[in-house]
Amino acid sequence: MNVARIPVLMYHRVGAVRSRREARYAITPARFAEHMRALARAGHRAVTIDAFMAWLEGEAALPEGSFLLTFDDGFRGVREHALPILEQLHWPFTVFLVSDLIGKEDAWIKAANPARASYPLLNAEEIRDMQQRGCSFHSHTRGHADLPTLNNAELADQLAVSRQALGELLEREVDYLAYPYGHFDERVEAAARAAGYRAAFSTHSGFNRPDIERFRIRRLDVYGSDTSARLLRKIRLGGNDGRLSTLIRYYLRETASRMTGRT
Ligand SMILES: [Zn+2]
Repeated sequence: MNVARIPVLMYHRVGAVRSRREARYAITPARFAEHMRALARAGHRAVTIDAFMAWLEGEAALPEGSFLLTFDDGFRGVREHALPILEQLHWPFTVFLVSDLIGKEDAWIKAANPARASYPLLNAEEIRDMQQRGCSFHSHTRGHADLPTLNNAELADQLAVSRQALGELLEREVDYLAYPYGHFDERVEAAARAAGYRAAFSTHSGFNRPDIERFRIRRLDVYGSDTSARLLRKIRLGGNDGRLSTLIRYYLRETASRMTGRT
């Protein structure tokens, strides 16, 4: 049985969460482990990004419960805290790397707000080791650029140079892009295609069906404040709003449409 729609989950940093503001883009190791166990108990199973793409293209079937697990930015905490639990579950995952900042820190956060704490990013050796262990890496641009604000030359540079640099590091094709800040427009999409990417991941929420635009793949944003129950509701609903009241409204609508024979 082939699944009709696949959710893509987006996490960022795994590690200490020092404020409510940080919890938007960071999750504690304990809560991350809870999320993964809850997904496994509910019958979900992570698939590789290449299997996801083959499914989109109609080249392969995937079972019910399949999802894609992604991490933006390439924080070292993903290796330290997420990798052990994901290895236990034999679940593959994808990290989108900022190619100029490998082995450095999340400089784009500091640039936007000097008062914010900095966190280390994976270095080349760690990345290659994780690749051996089943993790895939793709591009999050050269410098975590806000792509729609760039001129054409800068845009091409951010996309093509990161694809090439990561290709050399990983010794494989870098096929996928995640837009920094989720920002893109038609010019950015065209530039990503021209740079040789096969698909790009947005931060628009929702499920992916095979007819999804390849450069507008949807992802569900998982927050460090999400309980496991809320995460499962996000997946059920295909949205970032995983409140219980939203799920109840959804079922009431479903029931009403079944009773009146509407589909
Ligand atoms: Zn990012």
